[in-house]
Amino acid sequence: DAYLAAIEAANPALNAYVAVTQARATEMAAASDARIARGEGRALEGIPLGVKDLFATEGIHTQAASHILDKFEPRYESTVTANLWADGAVMLGKLNMDEFAMGSSNETSHYGPVVSPWRREGSNLDLVPGGSSGGSAAAVAAHLCAGATATDTGGSIRQPAALTGTVGIKPTYGRCSRWGIVAFASSLDQAGPLARDVRDAAILLKSMASVDEKDTTSVDRPVPDYEASVGRSVKGMRIGIPKEYRVEGMPAEIEKLWAQGIEWLREAGAEIVDVSLPHTKYALPAYYIVAPAEASSNLARYDGVRYGLRVPGRDVSEMYENTRAAGFGREVKRRIMIGTYVLSAGYYDAYYLQAQKVRTLIKRDFETVFGAGVDALLTPATPSAAFGIADQEMASDPVKMYLNDIFTVTVNMAGLPGIAVPAGLSQEGTPLGLQLIGRPFDEETLFATASVVE
Ligand code: GLN
Repeated sequence: DAYLAAIEAANPALNAYVAVTQARATEMAAASDARIARGEGRALEGIPLGVKDLFATEGIHTQAASHILDKFEPRYESTVTANLWADGAVMLGKLNMDEFAMGSSNETSHYGPVVSPWRREGSNLDLVPGGSSGGSAAAVAAHLCAGATATDTGGSIRQPAALTGTVGIKPTYGRCSRWGIVAFASSLDQAGPLARDVRDAAILLKSMASVDEKDTTSVDRPVPDYEASVGRSVKGMRIGIPKEYRVEGMPAEIEKLWAQGIEWLREAGAEIVDVSLPHTKYALPAYYIVAPAEASSNLARYDGVRYGLRVPGRDVSEMYENTRAAGFGREVKRRIMIGTYVLSAGYYDAYYLQAQKVRTLIKRDFETVFGAGVDALLTPATPSAAFGIADQEMASDPVKMYLNDIFTVTVNMAGLPGIAVPAGLSQEGTPLGLQLIGRPFDEETLFATASVVE
């Protein structure tokens, strides 16, 4: 009831929730109360969560913040949300996001932008919460849920976490089932939690993660008790500092934050080592070929026949055309065009195949560093603090917007786990985050190291 009241009071200004499932929440909470009274409470009994609109929720509209999925109500539940409900969590509603998870500011949503609960000192300017999981981050930061589901294809959990002072982890590719999550770029997409602190993120991930026969890329490995790693000693761990992340024009406050994080880990007994990931500079351009290529293929299914919106035409191909023209927003159309182009005959080798080769080199960079005994890497999470909504520079040049993902996309390209953790404030008093990157399926080291930085 307290969370529902908080949503009612704050959501008109923040636009974080696109649907509040009040009846479902009340019903689930009552069932939790009854189980607790019988002494049968499970790991997340009665914990109220928000769900990113990318997760299919049975009987509750799921639109990926797109007009093309108008009023789509899945008849099935995503595996990740089903896992959370099976552990007793309570669904408060669906959370705003960039359309089809394409964006870094939550401004591409069909429902309009999410406003961050944060303000710069002495300013009334509305700031972005980051994207694409901007609704999840804003809702967690503003206490409109105890935690939220999110997804990360190129940074969409970690970047909004960093910009809102929350904790977000993208686990290893395959740790969570992608079944029932609207597909963006299938070889990069992973689900993970956004939470108020490292411990909550660990508890939520434990529940979300599972092997699933409905997603053949999910991995059959036991899910560790992540909470046990929170606060565990980092003494003797080797933390790598990749020199390629010291990018040109990096703001002094980001440099300072990074140095501070290094100091905290050193004081906690970790050994700090300089490392090199030589192909880092190719990650962003390669990502913006691979992700649109996969998106153009995944989004081919929205044809006005199977889901949501249909805009009639004189014949079936005109109906497709009209539906896709009206249903997709500008950024989604841009990605479909880029993706179709890089996959087309004559360009495939030069772009898509080349990007896949670069992806292998990026992966090998990490393998070399981890192979040499490094336990985790520490980097900034974002190149700057939150910017204003409708920022002129970003709006006029999509590449400027893409640069927000410079520190996060490499992790998806290599399939590794990465966590963003709040580490300080900008000069203007807004949150800044650091990122820790780990070995495949070693989320535990990330929870241990992140709790030193937090
Ligand atoms: N900002 C990146 C993009 O627009 C990442 C999005 C994501 O992780 N879903 O593609």
